[in-house]
Amino acid sequence: MSGHQLRLYNSLGRRIEDFVPLSDPTTMYSCGPTVYAYPHLGNMRPYVVADTVRRALRWKGIGVHHVINITDVGHAVADTDTGEDKVEAAAARERRSVQEIAEFYTRAFFDDITALNVLPAAEYPRASAYVPQMIEFAEELEKKGFTYQIPSGLYFDTAKDPSYGELAQMDAEGQLEAARVEPVEGRRHKTDFALWRAEEPGRRRVMRWDSPWGCGAPGWHLECSVMSIALLGRHFDIHTGGVDHRELHHVNEIAQSQAYLGDGVPWVRFWLHNEFLQLGAVKMAKSAGGAPRLADLVKAGYHPMAFRLFLLGAHYRSQLDFTTAAMDAAQATLRRLVARVQPLRPLPKTDTLAAAAQAASHDPAAASALDQIDAAISADLNTPKILAILQDALRAPAMTPDGQRAVVAAADALLGLSLATLDPADLDQGRAKEDLTPAEQNDIEQLVAARTQARKEQDWSRADQIRAELDARGVQVTDTAEGPVWQLR
Ligand SMILES: [Zn+2]
Repeated sequence: MSGHQLRLYNSLGRRIEDFVPLSDPTTMYSCGPTVYAYPHLGNMRPYVVADTVRRALRWKGIGVHHVINITDVGHAVADTDTGEDKVEAAAARERRSVQEIAEFYTRAFFDDITALNVLPAAEYPRASAYVPQMIEFAEELEKKGFTYQIPSGLYFDTAKDPSYGELAQMDAEGQLEAARVEPVEGRRHKTDFALWRAEEPGRRRVMRWDSPWGCGAPGWHLECSVMSIALLGRHFDIHTGGVDHRELHHVNEIAQSQAYLGDGVPWVRFWLHNEFLQLGAVKMAKSAGGAPRLADLVKAGYHPMAFRLFLLGAHYRSQLDFTTAAMDAAQATLRRLVARVQPLRPLPKTDTLAAAAQAASHDPAAASALDQIDAAISADLNTPKILAILQDALRAPAMTPDGQRAVVAAADALLGLSLATLDPADLDQGRAKEDLTPAEQNDIEQLVAARTQARKEQDWSRADQIRAELDARGVQVTDTAEGPVWQLR
């Protein structure tokens, strides 16, 4: 099976393009967390999306060197160039050192991406470890005439870059409105941004470095350019992030990097942006406070893989509404998937199209399902489609068990739902019968009725099979004189 060409939506130009890696392994950078608070559910979507890219590349047999940065310095409160640093503000609020704050919330981030089965990046550079390189980078920009200095620091002069803002595809007014940029005394153009933030008189920063522009800290945008170039080379293949970065943070990364490199070649080839996860009508921003975390979902009885399934049930470029009804549905779907997959275990290890095609070579129905899976992931990461193909394959009477195994393993190599190992009992924690949706209750009622019917017809193997499925959903059936009754364990 030769496979379909991998095509990805490139925000730079806003079109779907063939993805052919420039290097082996290919290179990918994802903007990482600012570690000053617990990441909430909305913060997790970019990493699950980046992980899907990783899995798609692996599926195509393309190696990848992936870098996710950790912002432990330089990100000002309210995303502006002025005012307090987010990490320093959190340290003051929690009466802890900035190192403790950064360490604690970095750990919290790792806990969440691990629970969500996100493949680990090759490197997680800390911004605070790259400040000398950031100063050198800014000095080079200064030498090339792209900067000017005012009391609040060193600024990048965006008027010097004729292609500034190409990624945002907005005029400067729209871009600034989208990013809520605040005025800065002495800044020449509203779009100009800080490369170096000088200490305000009388306000000594906790994290401070000497620089040619006074004691202070780097601007937030600078770190991503410096660390990605340091670790992935001057040009790399893929840069990912939330759509909130498309109008400003990534625009500024591109401006300063292309000014620094000065070779006339686009700095990064592919820019991938995921849409927001919405809580009600409001974007879930960490600064808004009170947004639910993964730990809150787990406490409420949801499995982290149910949240992953909920995310993958929508295309990454669609806005997604977070509701408990949607989470209930996701957990029910996952429970059903695991119940159907369990009798097929152990699953083969088929991370790539080549391996999956080999495992399914004797089953035309499975080979056809694999081709559909390959077509779906190749069409700009269509994960909802893969979920649908997986569900169909588990119901397909024409497929052999080995064929089904190959299809399940292949789909899960891309979806990362841990279908090979998930324990059905883990999907029922803390659930009472009243927590079930009417559809779920109806589903169970139908299974119980089907089991009763099978017993009446003395079809014991069918009755056992249904009982196993009910069991996998955490449903316990007791036969009484009045007929069967069921409850959740
Ligand atoms: Zn970044």
